[in-house]
Amino acid sequence: MVRIAYIAGCGRSGTTLLARLLGEIPGFVAVGEAGWYFLGLRDASAVGIPCGCAAAISECSLWGKVSVDPQARMLARELIRGHSLHRTLWGRPETHPGLQRFLAAASGFYHTLAARTGAAVIVDSSKSSLFAALLARSPGIRVHVIHMIRDLRGVVSSGRRPKAYAPVMSPPRSILHWYRANVGAELLERRTAEFSRFRYEDFVAYPRPLLEQLASAIRGFPVHCPFLYEGQVQVHAQHLVTGNPDKFQCGQTWLRERQPELGPVLNHFVSLMGAPLLARYGYFSRKRNGAPAQPSEVHGEEALLPGSHERKTGMDEGLRFHALRNTSK
Ligand SMILES: [Zn+2]
Repeated sequence: MVRIAYIAGCGRSGTTLLARLLGEIPGFVAVGEAGWYFLGLRDASAVGIPCGCAAAISECSLWGKVSVDPQARMLARELIRGHSLHRTLWGRPETHPGLQRFLAAASGFYHTLAARTGAAVIVDSSKSSLFAALLARSPGIRVHVIHMIRDLRGVVSSGRRPKAYAPVMSPPRSILHWYRANVGAELLERRTAEFSRFRYEDFVAYPRPLLEQLASAIRGFPVHCPFLYEGQVQVHAQHLVTGNPDKFQCGQTWLRERQPELGPVLNHFVSLMGAPLLARYGYFSRKRNGAPAQPSEVHGEEALLPGSHERKTGMDEGLRFHALRNTSK
């Protein structure tokens, strides 16, 4: 049985950061957006984006030795582009012979990754809820879905900033992606046995207790993360395929949150547009319900920043942490 910690949610929500911190824990390996690599729909090697270890994908000591069955990849593309995947996923997948072949190929892909890395848990930050639901049906695979949520205002602000090869996103496009990703994760919650949900802002403000809580839930025994100390972490190169350009940052880093940089008009517009889910995830009442009393200073998947920035540490030893959702059925 291969265990996968699958990170779902919207881009620019700190998913790469979470994957990298999980990948620092013994027994875990972060492999980036492996699902997209398997599908061949965001093939980093095809567009010249190297692995997180800085080697070309074909020369990487991990990805250079992991092949994907071309027939399985072709089948996956047919399923997705034909939109039959949605029908088969939410309908009766057992009656779809192509989907069964796809699930077997996906299982083989992740078993190969597990064998080559020797890790007990593979951390996949592909974010696609649809792919996660498929993985959960694959033979010999056990998936723990982690839904990382970020305030829409932070997502929109981050999306407007150029970042290496990551595309700039207009506010309407960011809003659309944010709803699609988070509603998808909500649907996914009903299809997977193990599910955790975190606010990105809480995670950046108090990374160690939340990471330990999450890792312990995944492993089934207490996990400690001494490499996280007062908001600092030593991040090593990892074999992350595709994904955010932050995957290349290494060394001593401070975790911090950047305030959204939106003008008042845009801020009100985004707040209004995101109101239903912002309210659902407690963003309008964070100060009252106890999680970080002060919304973390400033920001990002950009929370992984080179180490020259001071931040308030002051973690309250008596503070109680809880995931917004953490279930094992
Ligand atoms: Zn690599």
